[in-house]
Amino acid sequence: MMRILVTGGAGFIGSNLVHHLLGEASSGTETPVERVVTLDKFTYAGSRMNLADLESDPRHVLVEGDICDTELVGRLLREHEIDAIMHLAAESHVDRSIDNPEEFIMTNFVGTYRLLEAFRVYLLEHGGENRVFLHVSTDEVFGSLGADDPPFCETTRYAPNSPYSATKAGSDHLVRAYHHTYGLPVVTTHCSNNYGPYQFPEKLLPLMIGKVLKGEPLPIYGDGSQIRDWLYVEDHCRGLVSAMRHGKRGECYVIGGKCEMRNIDVVRELVEAVRERVPGIRPADELIIHVQDRPGHDLRYAIDPSRIETELGWAPRENFPSGLRRTVEWYLANDEWVRHIEEGPYHGERLGRLAQG
Ligand code: NAD
Repeated sequence: MMRILVTGGAGFIGSNLVHHLLGEASSGTETPVERVVTLDKFTYAGSRMNLADLESDPRHVLVEGDICDTELVGRLLREHEIDAIMHLAAESHVDRSIDNPEEFIMTNFVGTYRLLEAFRVYLLEHGGENRVFLHVSTDEVFGSLGADDPPFCETTRYAPNSPYSATKAGSDHLVRAYHHTYGLPVVTTHCSNNYGPYQFPEKLLPLMIGKVLKGEPLPIYGDGSQIRDWLYVEDHCRGLVSAMRHGKRGECYVIGGKCEMRNIDVVRELVEAVRERVPGIRPADELIIHVQDRPGHDLRYAIDPSRIETELGWAPRENFPSGLRRTVEWYLANDEWVRHIEEGPYHGERLGRLAQG
């Protein structure tokens, strides 16, 4: 039986992961998950609503707190006899990192250091056998690709371009160093753009779904030719669990959806998906407007997930057209969630801004 601490479990990927751990990941032939402890600071990006259906599940414990609080983390590790930390807590929005890098340095870099340190002390006291620290990073640490460059893989050199990706890159190096210096059992993953349920409306897909439904213009950075790889969040969660259970300690794995698309094409397809479900929606070309590009905007991210496919037997199951339609369906069915998020600490303050990864 496994006991897992998920940091950032009230955010987008974290809440999908907590549901996956207590659902699909516990119903197969692998060691079941006995307990999930979610540690979340509830910044603007975390919501209790994302985990509300687990309130009466005795396997889930929700703790409000900061990953920078070493004493709290140490107590949770000991009290719940944690086997695995799955570390997702982060400041994750590139535009916000351009406006205010300091919070990113504190949570993404210092916070990861404090977690590693708490885990190191815990292992000294309780032994490291069968324990693991899974560090969830991003493909953005590799910088930008040219149109004809090969996709990112585990040996791509680091070249972070934004304050966000620089703080994630710094945390990756700390994780690596804790393995080499102290023998900490760690695995790092780098994923591409996730999409699916529970994503905050500052990110591209939910932002655009909301605007399409309201009949508002769809602002696209520059000419929209930036290319991203799209990974359905459920596929990502399966990859994270595989890497946590079977990933080689001290190694890293890139995870992608094998789905490279230009931002403009993503938005066009999204409008079509909404039009299929909601009558009276105007076509994409009547709604799209082009706005000034983000400073230092990376041109292309792409992923070659061969390693996780061959070593861990993982592969994406969802293709983009079908994952997109599932996502649109979720947002249509959860308009109360959207309203709650927009009216909460998030305040819709960034709804006018873009987030195109
Ligand atoms: P998110 O912004 O939706 O959620 C982050 C969560 O972390 C929130 O619940 C927030 O309250 C919590 N948090 C922030 N600071 C904290 C702190 N100091 N202590 C405890 N909790 C804190 O992020 P996401 O999109 O779910 O991303 C999760 C992880 O995956 C991040 O590490 C991110 O870098 C990585 N990632 C995300 C994507 C993507 O497409 N969303 C792509 C690549 C990598």
